[in-house]
Amino acid sequence: MAEVLFIGSGNAFSPPGRMHAAALFDRNILVDAPPTILPQLRNSGVFPSHIKHLLFTHWHADHTFGFPFLMLNRSKMASIENGEEFLNVHCRPGGKERMELLCKTGFPGSLETEIEDKVIWNQDEKGELEGTDWSFERFPVRHTPETDPHGYRMIHSSGLTILHCGDSGPCEEIEKRASDSDIVILEMGVPDFVNSPFHHNPSDIESFVNRHPDATVLVTHNFSRSPSSKGGFEIPKLPEKVVQLKDGDSLKISDEGSFVVKN
Ligand SMILES: [Zn+2]
Ligand SMILES: [Zn+2]
Repeated sequence: MAEVLFIGSGNAFSPPGRMHAAALFDRNILVDAPPTILPQLRNSGVFPSHIKHLLFTHWHADHTFGFPFLMLNRSKMASIENGEEFLNVHCRPGGKERMELLCKTGFPGSLETEIEDKVIWNQDEKGELEGTDWSFERFPVRHTPETDPHGYRMIHSSGLTILHCGDSGPCEEIEKRASDSDIVILEMGVPDFVNSPFHHNPSDIESFVNRHPDATVLVTHNFSRSPSSKGGFEIPKLPEKVVQLKDGDSLKISDEGSFVVKN
């Protein structure tokens, strides 16, 4: 049995009822580290130091600024939490330097040794996630170019494939991988009146579903409020089969690769 837990489902503005988007695979693989990563993990009953692998999609703050907090927790709490000694960070070239600068800015003098000794930096574009049932392939997407934006195809040992598209507008790289993926996770960062090439809006999601009628589409990085909240933008109407994820939703995967979405 495998599980993907959506510990946040909001865009960079954290709309009412939503923390910044992040996904947790089998409670030890994290895709992105939002600024509030520590409470997001704790809300799910996961010790921050139990994370074995961290995969960055791009450099925007809503996806990276939790890194210093994650490292601070590990440097002080790993032994108390019986956590992992090493964190594997999978990212594009330049990521190590960016994260070092971020940690030095946020917690000067505290994390330099931890980052040097306890983080294993990996820039490979694909590989096994050691100690887990998953492997990954990174692929480029369409988002603010200065953030070096990418998505991850996550492949489970059962053969099930999840296309996690990071932050991206519609693009050829997603199109060509969508047809042989079981599940596609798309961001919906902006409402319809915003026409940005770097985000999906509700109309983009609808046309994606029409082009890929067999795909299971999960929407995250949502610009609208959560169903239980007030204020912000109203939740858009989307085709019935599209799941608009909420914080705390999950995907349960059997050993044979069948799955259910708990929404
Ligand atoms: Zn974002
Ligand atoms: Zn972004």
